[in-house]
Amino acid sequence: MASGESSDKKIIRIGGKLSEHFAFLNADAPSDGASKISCLHCKKQFAYRGSNTSLTYHLQHKHPMQYQRVAAADRKKNDDTKRCSIMNFVSTQSNKPVSDRVCEDLKGAIAQWIASSGRPTAIVEDPGLQTVLCVALQNQQYTLPSRRTIDNIIARMYDEKLND
Ligand SMILES: [Zn+2]
Repeated sequence: MASGESSDKKIIRIGGKLSEHFAFLNADAPSDGASKISCLHCKKQFAYRGSNTSLTYHLQHKHPMQYQRVAAADRKKNDDTKRCSIMNFVSTQSNKPVSDRVCEDLKGAIAQWIASSGRPTAIVEDPGLQTVLCVALQNQQYTLPSRRTIDNIIARMYDEKLND
């Protein structure tokens, strides 16, 4: 079966993150058969059956510099996606006011948690914890108590214990 004659060789690039590194050779091949794919850097040919595993492997071992770029772009995309999905979630919540009472209770609960679990006080500077609390309180402006505040509460807790 002869497919249409075309003077230009069609280059069909593979989709996704490997698009800059591999292109299909036989774009008109029947879709049920294996396609031929070629590395754009060293022209090595591969049989392509829908999986990028061997291509990624090739890139990683033969063209490590190129692979670094793919991996870095991948990481960035993942981070962005994660950040976006959390922030989208927060931003869809209404901005409910957090009462002083709740703030005080939270301070106490956080101090208790840190003291009893042996977590570092620096955990109040963890943006992840901050995000979780913003979501829980449905308030984007909530900020965690400072390390100093928590240290003071913990010190007070110990004092009270000693004076019992
Ligand atoms: Zn190659």
